Amino acid sequence: MHHAQVETLRAPARKRASLSQTGHGWQQAMREAVTDIGTLCDLLELSDAQRDALIGIRTGFPLRVPRSYIARMRRGDVDDPLLRQVLPIAAENEPVPGFSIDAVGDHASALGDGVLHKYHGRALLVTTGACAVHCRYCFRRHFDYANQHAGARQGEAALAHIAADKSINEVILSGGDPLSLSNNRLDALGHALDAIEHVTRIRIHTRTAVVLPERIDADLIAWVRERRQQCVIVIHANHAQELDDTVAQRLLELRAAGATLLNQAVLLKNVNDDVDTLIQLSERLFALGVMPYYLHLLDRVAGSAHFEVDEARARILIGRVAGRLPGYLVPRLARENAGDAAKQVLGYDAGPSAADTR
Ligand SMILES: *Cc1c(COP(=O)(O)O)cnc(C)c1O
Ligand code: SF4
Repeated sequence: MHHAQVETLRAPARKRASLSQTGHGWQQAMREAVTDIGTLCDLLELSDAQRDALIGIRTGFPLRVPRSYIARMRRGDVDDPLLRQVLPIAAENEPVPGFSIDAVGDHASALGDGVLHKYHGRALLVTTGACAVHCRYCFRRHFDYANQHAGARQGEAALAHIAADKSINEVILSGGDPLSLSNNRLDALGHALDAIEHVTRIRIHTRTAVVLPERIDADLIAWVRERRQQCVIVIHANHAQELDDTVAQRLLELRAAGATLLNQAVLLKNVNDDVDTLIQLSERLFALGVMPYYLHLLDRVAGSAHFEVDEARARILIGRVAGRLPGYLVPRLARENAGDAAKQVLGYDAGPSAADTR
């Protein structure tokens, strides 16, 4: 992206391998993610009564949570806002009208070669099925990754599609989570995109950067630094408590490598649906060099209804946040409507208490 640096930054892969301080640490951490509820209860020092209420719940979307994310949760507290995002609960199995399996229409817009081309000028490349964490509110919890990801074989077709369409100047790597890909796979993808002249931006949407900061290793930093394109990394943090010192350090390194960092959060009931929590999130993000971008209303996917904050309340909440923060720290409240070419950005609502204080 900086022309003067291009010569020196095209370091061969073998040179970068020796720069890695973390080796395959992140893949190890990924494999060691907790998938067993008993282990999670042990690590959180839950009481027998708390355990009994959690063990034995089957939801069809397995538990998965990295240990470093568990380390950021409060011990003995089943209401912890981080725990709530990953803990399977019985309410997920209750059918709720309006909550369906394909809430955002992704199945309809899939082109079948790993490209989901939903936005003008931007191509969304679904790069992998794997996630470091399973978020209970995930709109992709029912997504058929097995047949949609641009894996080793399908990648070629996806790239050919992008190369053939000059209107695409931004490639969005999404998933799953693109940072579940190995550095070798990312390298191959990066070089292929470098060769497509009309692609001037690469955007990565990742929750892994937050839940498994080990992933931001020396090779990934080098990958960002090497790109001909501008790199935008959209992290997915929902709560300031997620952004501990390790995450802070790795984000700093990404910024130093030239990445622009943005955050996309989901508004989640009993996780971040109050003014102070949203303000703390924006403040913490900015302190780490990350601009708040979107605050999403929940996609109405089956199994996530217990997280929903209705639109009227969301507008009031964001209005109050806007009343207390500079404009650049207020994320855009947005919703995704099936079949639409772009997100719908929602306005603020003063709400009843603003009238009281006049
Ligand atoms: C909204 C969204 C996009 C694209 O929309 P922008 O308005 O360009 O940000 C891409 N990927 C994900 C995961 C999104 O949520
Ligand atoms: S990381 Fe993203 S795609 Fe993966 S489960 Fe969480 S919300 Fe869903």
